[in-house]
Amino acid sequence: MDIPYIDLVAQHAPLKAELLQAVAGVIDHGQFVLGPEVAEFEHRFADLCGVPYAAGVSSGTDALVLALRALGVGPGDEVITVPNSFVASVSCIELAGARPVLVDVRDDYTIDPEKIPAALSPRTKAILPVHLTGRPCDMDPLMAIARQHGLAVVEDCAQAVTAEYAGRRVGSIGAIGCFSFHPLKTLSALGDAGAITCHDAGLCERLKVMRNLGLRTRDDCVEWSGNSRLDAVQAAMLAVKLKYVDGWTERRRRHAAEYRERLAGLPWIRIPEDGPTRKAVYHTLVVEADDRDALRTCLSARGIGTAIHYPVPVHLTTAGRSLGYPAGSFPVAERQAARIVSLPVYPELTTSQIDRVCDAIRAFYADRRS
Ligand SMILES: *Cc1c(COP(=O)(O)O)cnc(C)c1O
Repeated sequence: MDIPYIDLVAQHAPLKAELLQAVAGVIDHGQFVLGPEVAEFEHRFADLCGVPYAAGVSSGTDALVLALRALGVGPGDEVITVPNSFVASVSCIELAGARPVLVDVRDDYTIDPEKIPAALSPRTKAILPVHLTGRPCDMDPLMAIARQHGLAVVEDCAQAVTAEYAGRRVGSIGAIGCFSFHPLKTLSALGDAGAITCHDAGLCERLKVMRNLGLRTRDDCVEWSGNSRLDAVQAAMLAVKLKYVDGWTERRRRHAAEYRERLAGLPWIRIPEDGPTRKAVYHTLVVEADDRDALRTCLSARGIGTAIHYPVPVHLTTAGRSLGYPAGSFPVAERQAARIVSLPVYPELTTSQIDRVCDAIRAFYADRRS
């Protein structure tokens, strides 16, 4: 591919010396489990998100499962989320022992707060909004519903580090924010990693015990829990990369604006708008496109990589069918799954590469019409 969908080699090449030096630091002191890098990263990540506390964990999925369990979600409870996310947004609810209840999304891929009331039941315990593609959900109406019904809110921020809703960063709005640093995320480790953010010191302490087998001290286990620790080496990598995340996000936003400008007026392509109160970070640039599959084939033939996030809504996957939602249950999410395509938007992309992608898209629709 001339213009790959993502280019992790390009992202890390300029950081290689700095990253190797950070690994050397860990090798030199030999404290590979938790230790100073993890604490330092947690401190800086909490600052980045505008919260007092953060706990490093081993993945975004573990962050979500621990968050639900720490808020007391378990068997007999229901948690509301969306069908169009990465599977972990739904599986975490099952893994906590509760039942996922899905509601449809809006044209901008985020949960439709107006559809939440009809999904509530006496068993509803929490809402799990997903800031999908890096665009914050419409949090004011969602938080109002949560307050009115006494529900906890766990934000799935895996794709949205530093995205803002009404001046607040995601992960600082609900009770707990859950982040992933999987290599494909906007702020990424060199392997799996994740974090949890919150406002409550006691809750953060509990999460730190839960991520470490329920051990309050080396020898006292206070509750059954697994091993979901953030590796010291990954924390060291993240501390290096954290410094660059604002600059990368600025470039992603600029790329999104360039795409918007160059694809303006094409009725076959729909790019969700940025509202005045919601600052997206463009983890992915997901657009709805007529003839999506043919468009992808055409782009691929011209050396342009694309992806689909995600082609099968969770309720229609093999495991998801057990949730009991037949095809047609979520018209917006299902329409999007058949029409969406993710265009390259990584920071290292150049304006002339974006020109080439947009020219290829315009040429595809011009051919199709003639
Ligand atoms: C990536 C992702 C997760 C899971 O994160 P992992 O670190 O891969 O476990 C959860 N939710 C969303 C929306 C994601 O994109």
